[in-house]
Amino acid sequence: MSIAFIDLQAQRRRLGDSVDRAIAKVLDHGHYIMGPEVAQFETALGDFCGARHVIGCGNGTDALHLVLLAEGIGPGDAVFVPAFTFVATAEMAPLVGATPVFVDVDETSFNIDPASLEVAIRTARDAGLTPRMVIAVDLFGQPADYAAISRIADSHGLTVVADAAQAFGASLGAAKVGTLAKYTTTSFFPAKPLGCYGDGGAVFTDDDSAATLLRSLRIHGKGTDKYDNVRIGLNSRLDTLQAAILLEKLAIFADEIVARNRVADRYAQGLGDVVAVPKVADGAVSTWAQYTIRHADRDGLAARLKEEGVPSAVYYPIPMHRQTGYHAYPVAGASLPVSDRLSREVISLPMHPYLDPATQDRIIEAVRSSL
Ligand SMILES: *Cc1c(COP(=O)(O)O)cnc(C)c1O
Repeated sequence: MSIAFIDLQAQRRRLGDSVDRAIAKVLDHGHYIMGPEVAQFETALGDFCGARHVIGCGNGTDALHLVLLAEGIGPGDAVFVPAFTFVATAEMAPLVGATPVFVDVDETSFNIDPASLEVAIRTARDAGLTPRMVIAVDLFGQPADYAAISRIADSHGLTVVADAAQAFGASLGAAKVGTLAKYTTTSFFPAKPLGCYGDGGAVFTDDDSAATLLRSLRIHGKGTDKYDNVRIGLNSRLDTLQAAILLEKLAIFADEIVARNRVADRYAQGLGDVVAVPKVADGAVSTWAQYTIRHADRDGLAARLKEEGVPSAVYYPIPMHRQTGYHAYPVAGASLPVSDRLSREVISLPMHPYLDPATQDRIIEAVRSSL
């Protein structure tokens, strides 16, 4: 039997016909745009994580775009982002005319390194830019170090944004992702821990006026209604069908996070003595969007796993500061050695809540014999 990297069909089987019924309900009422399920889902997400406001939108990239627009980020502004991330984290800053400044990451958590953030703020000032925002990423499902990031951000007047596209459902101590920064963004792309059957995203904030602004910006900068346009905005709504699907998936999500952590623990036990396995900070809970190990001969390992029928993936093979579209933007100090090294060494193994022990043993055995 072939092994799935992420087994969405297993989840579909568990959900039974509840998703089909939810879809049929939307088809019956016909409110495809901003139907009742959108507000229901926003409320359910807020209840899940404790955020005061949840604003559904088109996808996780738009969620970041909306936040940059809400904060009025533009030309001359520096937006600090980790170099080791998915492109969308960095992409929206240049889109609004601002300058992304790439920050190195921490070797253990893969998340933005607060010491490198301080260096990057000096780099930006020296380049004549105004430091405005830091977008931390909760990479592979583990929250970034928001206490340290917020201390630095406060002393330099930066707005903190959490790009939690991979980490909705995770937590730091008693605080859940969605409440760890002024703005949190997430994605419901199908392969994310909480995924829909298409594109979807959301912004979380406790700030009342920011929430009002975001609700206007997602519908063409609307005022009292959509034909009253008081600012420049986007067309970025969460589809009613996706909200209806997500409501069903959210009902089993807490249980899935427990299952993901069980799988991660089993990998750590089975592989911790032979390869660098990921570590989660004390008091943190990860959603394990990816289970990412490190090995010096990463490409050799991937090839041998493939021969054994074990799928793997590399997130991310090229750090942002070496991407063709981005290499002209500033980096913290002279270089970003950790991001460079990780992009050569990381490899992610199959990870989803329905990975059964026998299949996982096959994967663990294949990794061990490939090393
Ligand atoms: C997936 C992802 C995004 C973008 O989400 P989309 O819904 O695909 O637009 C942004 N940031 C990170 C870190 C991601 O993993």
